[in-house]
Amino acid sequence: MKKLVFATNNEHKLTEVRAILKDTYQVLSLKDINCFDDIPETADNLEDNARQKAQYIYEHYHVDCFADDSGLEVEALNGTPGVYSARYAALEGTGEAHDSKANMNRLLRELKDKNNRKAQFRTIICLIQDGKEHLFEGIVEGTINPEERGSSGFGYDPIFMPKGYNQTFAELGEDVKNSISHRAKAVEKLAEFLKS
Ligand code: IMP
Repeated sequence: MKKLVFATNNEHKLTEVRAILKDTYQVLSLKDINCFDDIPETADNLEDNARQKAQYIYEHYHVDCFADDSGLEVEALNGTPGVYSARYAALEGTGEAHDSKANMNRLLRELKDKNNRKAQFRTIICLIQDGKEHLFEGIVEGTINPEERGSSGFGYDPIFMPKGYNQTFAELGEDVKNSISHRAKAVEKLAEFLKS
């Protein structure tokens, strides 16, 4: 079976992608190729970050590979936190990077006086195959709930309510989330391309 490296060690992401590509590709993680490097991720937008990670693996390991980057884009905040979603509170000094609680607190504070609660999660996947680059995008639209609800998932899930539902991602649970999420949509597009 053909091999493809996914530039991540995140088990949730690996399981999701392996399930979708199981008949066509063996998906390897960074650990599987003995990559323990601190891969640079310094761009100011999702596309360039995904590209930077995929190019790094392609240049150093000479294998077909893909990388992803995701973020929450809030309309009333001009698309922020976006690429800075993981570091949103850290940027103003109210929490460490990846501190979900602190990130949600900052977001709810920034939106306190705003009527427009529209937001979207967006994922970009950059695939490099035979030296050629391909980008895939997945978006899920929704709104930011004024308080946290639910306990499943991660990140901003307790305050993100996808369009057409009156529960947050954290209340809907993994199965529902994984069938409509930004990441699932981008992965489906990648899979369609790889199978075509
Ligand atoms: P990553 O590129 O998938 O690591 O996502 C970057 C950051 O965006 C995460 O650390 C979260 O703060 C946020 N994020 C991305 N996807 C999700 C999601 O599905 N639910 C909640 N937060 C997410």
